[in-house]
Amino acid sequence: MTQARLSIDLSALRANWHTLAEKSRTETGAVVKANAYGLGIDKVAPALAAEGARRFFVAIAEEGVALRRILGPGPDIFVFSGHMAGDADLLREARLIPMINSIDQMLRHVEGLPGSPFGIQLDSGMNRLGMEPAEWSALRDIALAQKPQLVMSHLACADEPCHGMNPHQLRAFQDMTDGIDAPRSLAATGGILLGEDYCFDITRPGIGLYGGLPFVDARPVVTLSIPVIQVREVEPGESVGYGNSFIARTPMRVATIAGGYADGILRGMGPNAYVWAGETRCKILGRISMDLIGVDVSHLEQPPEALELLGQHQSIDTLADWAGTIGYEILTSLGTRYARDYHGA
Ligand SMILES: *Cc1c(COP(=O)(O)O)cnc(C)c1O
Repeated sequence: MTQARLSIDLSALRANWHTLAEKSRTETGAVVKANAYGLGIDKVAPALAAEGARRFFVAIAEEGVALRRILGPGPDIFVFSGHMAGDADLLREARLIPMINSIDQMLRHVEGLPGSPFGIQLDSGMNRLGMEPAEWSALRDIALAQKPQLVMSHLACADEPCHGMNPHQLRAFQDMTDGIDAPRSLAATGGILLGEDYCFDITRPGIGLYGGLPFVDARPVVTLSIPVIQVREVEPGESVGYGNSFIARTPMRVATIAGGYADGILRGMGPNAYVWAGETRCKILGRISMDLIGVDVSHLEQPPEALELLGQHQSIDTLADWAGTIGYEILTSLGTRYARDYHGA
């Protein structure tokens, strides 16, 4: 078998949710947009529901429809993009709760689905989604009279605890929502770690559940093991891979492994990247191809059957540093070619 194996530890996922719920000291939801950050919403969402999550968040209505099929009738499913044209049937049939982002969306909602649940998303400074303070002032009394299920906003810089934007957005959110009856939510993973002031009634962790920064104490959730297809001796002066970007200076033994940028192993991280054979680190050589990567295994007594790219030795954030990106992009880039196994449910 040449398929690389992506193992997802659902007990680590559940433990991460549990720890973030303890830190939140309030009701804790779960963000499962983008197929649960690439890890498989059909396995991730039921595991989180079993751990106690009752409020789930997705980006678009279509994701909510899929999630409703997976979770059944119980949990609340909130849609960040709100109520877009053409969404009414999806929202009604799957009983989704759109986070209303504008007066236009509010009108569409009350006309298309009168009396059906909704939430409100406010912009506290990020300028991405949600109503601005002036828009909210105009709509506030009418919207609150219809009893929104949730009023939320999102932090732009929560992964930098000392950033002045955090208290600035906290104040803006408080100014817009102090005194209302509806449950409030401001914090994602980073916001939870900023402390209780940021947690309000419901928190919305995503990346921390999946083992990523800024939740430094997260348990790793993903292991990626890539089979060795072939091992060869390389003489001094010979090259490895496309573009001859690596040239051997000494005699070497090189393993070719069955993964590449088509699997989300970002090509740009090649010059900085390593894989592991048990406890021994092995350098990636030359360019990462679409389906194949060369690895220096000269220092191993026995070439292994597989090499590990993600696991106890290096995290999604280690890979992200090598590629000049963030753990979120490493996870959501993971391709569809892996043999995925889920354990610890
Ligand atoms: C993605 C997202 C989250 C989750 O953020 P993490 O940093 O992954 O915890 C929460 N709220 C909103 C609005 C989001 O878009």
